[in-house]
Amino acid sequence: MPGTELFGNEERKEINDVLETGILFRYNHDQQRNGIWKAREFEAEVAKITGAKYAHAMSSGSTAIATALAASGIGTGDEVIVPPFTYIATIEAVLFVGAIPVFAEIDETLCLSAEGIKAVVTPRTKAVCLVHMCGGMADMDALIAVINEHNLVLVEDAGQAFAASYKGTYTGLFGKAGSYSFDFFKIATAGEGGVLVTNDEAVYRNADSYSDHGHDHIGSNRGMEQHPILGFNYRISELHAAVGLAQTRRVPHIVEMNRKNKNLLTEILSQTEGISFARLADPSGDSATFLNMFLPDTEAAKRTVDELNKAGVGGFNYWYVNMYHFINQWDHIKELRTTSKLPVQLLGAPQNYAELDLPKSQEVIGRLISFGIRVTWTEDEVRSLAGKIAECAKRAMAPQVA
Ligand SMILES: *Cc1c(COP(=O)(O)O)cnc(C)c1O
Repeated sequence: MPGTELFGNEERKEINDVLETGILFRYNHDQQRNGIWKAREFEAEVAKITGAKYAHAMSSGSTAIATALAASGIGTGDEVIVPPFTYIATIEAVLFVGAIPVFAEIDETLCLSAEGIKAVVTPRTKAVCLVHMCGGMADMDALIAVINEHNLVLVEDAGQAFAASYKGTYTGLFGKAGSYSFDFFKIATAGEGGVLVTNDEAVYRNADSYSDHGHDHIGSNRGMEQHPILGFNYRISELHAAVGLAQTRRVPHIVEMNRKNKNLLTEILSQTEGISFARLADPSGDSATFLNMFLPDTEAAKRTVDELNKAGVGGFNYWYVNMYHFINQWDHIKELRTTSKLPVQLLGAPQNYAELDLPKSQEVIGRLISFGIRVTWTEDEVRSLAGKIAECAKRAMAPQVA
C-alpha cells in the first residue's frame, strides 16, 4: 500500500492550505478561498500523469465508476458484461445504475478476456465494464476488437490501476470513461476519493453535473446555476482532495520504486520451478503494486498459503477465499439480497448468479497469490521475503505424504 507508506509534510501542507481558508467545499466562495482550489489541482495532477483530457474528482472510486457508467448512458435494463474477479464495487455500480451484470471469464491477465466476452455477448449486450486488476492491465488490442465488432460501450474500472498503461495509453482512457480509486488501500490515497477520466467532453459534462445534483457549474453563484440533468451528491471535499493531490504527486516515484522491488522479487522467484506469474499485456506499463504469483494448481496454492501463514509471512492476498474480490464469496449477489427492489429483480437477469459456470476464472484465481509491493522496502528485505516465499512454495509443491 504505497500511498499509506508515504505520508508526511507534503500532505500536511496541502491540508493546512485548506484549513487556513476554511473553505472545505470544492465549488464557489471565490473571494474567501484565496485562490485555494485543491480538487481542481488534484484533477490536474491526475490528468498530467494519465494524459486524460478531463479528470473529475469525486467522493470515492465506487461513485466514480457508477458515474462513469451513468455518464456513458448506461442505465436501467442495459446488460453489462463484468468480471467475476474485481472489488465488489464494480458489480454494485452496475446494479445501482439499474443495469444487469452479465459475468464473463477472465484469463491469466486477471482481467476479462476477448474469448470470455465472445462467449456471453448477445444482441442485448450494451456495454463492457472492464476492470484492470492488481496494478496491471487488460489485453486491450484483443478486447477492443471484440468490443468494436459488437458495437459495445466500454467503461473501465481502473480502481486498482492508476498509473498503469498499455502501449502508451493509460488505463481508463480506452473507452467512454474510466475511474480510479484513492481509498486507503490504493497506490495513492485521499483517505476516501475517486477520479473519473475521459477524453469525451460530453461524457465529462455529464459526469460533472451528475456528481453534483445536476449543477452546470457555470458562474459563481451556486443558487442561480442551471441543472441540465438530474444528479446526486458524489462530491469530494477539499480536505480529501488536498491529500489526494499531495499523494498523486508522489506517484511517479512510487511506480519507479514499485517496479524496482517487484523486478527483484520476480527475478528471484522465477528460479523456483512451478512458480509463474500473471500475464502483463504490456509489462512496461505495470504500476507494480502487486506481484501476482501462480502456483501450478489450486491445491498447491492453498498449501502455499498455509506455509506462508506458518512462516509468519504476511502482506499477501489469496483472493480465492477473500470475501470481497471473487464471486465465490459473493452470497449477497448470488441471492440478490437487497434492502429494496433493484431493476435487476424486476427485469430478471439472463444468468442465474448462484449457478454461474466460470471454470477458467476458478482455475486462474484458485492458483493466484498476490503480494502487495511496498515502496519502502530495502533490497535486503526484498531478498529475504523472496527467499521465504520460495521456501514456502517449494514445501507446498513437494510430493505430499498421504
Ligand atoms: C478499490 C476499488 C473500487 C472502489 O473504490 P472506493 O474508493 O473504495 O470506493 C472499485 N473498483 C476497484 C477495482 C477497486 O479496486
